[in-house]
Amino acid sequence: MADCLFCKIIARQIPASIVYEDDRLLAFNDINPQGPTHVLIVPKRHIASLNDVAAGDDHIVGEMVRRAAAIAKERGISASGFRVVFNTNRDGGQTVFHIHLHLIGGRSLSWPPG
Ligand code: AMP
Ligand code: ZN
Repeated sequence: MADCLFCKIIARQIPASIVYEDDRLLAFNDINPQGPTHVLIVPKRHIASLNDVAAGDDHIVGEMVRRAAAIAKERGISASGFRVVFNTNRDGGQTVFHIHLHLIGGRSLSWPPG
């Protein structure tokens, strides 16, 4: 999508610190990290939000979640723990409308979130 920040990162029009890539996914470090690990996992195909995920997208969502766990394992935080989050729309705090899974870890995270 022409005016989408994450589509531009996927197209290499905007630089990012990329940590994983395959045919369907890209993962890169968040520019404003909320912990020692803060990685965004995004599908290469533009999907605006979790509200726009269709039944046919189950596979890509599953890959995103499994990739988050794999990156957590690489970072050595699987056992200590981590959080994955899909912020959705205004009350969820979504600011970029290309679906992304936050992987945050490397410190103790409080609950409930603000
Ligand atoms: P959300 O608020 O859930 O939509 O998350 C958007 C995330 O994208 C925020 O955590 C931002 O820090 C992050 N972000 C914004 N611009 C960039 C960028 N150019 N590169 C990497 N992360 C970004
Ligand atoms: Zn996009």
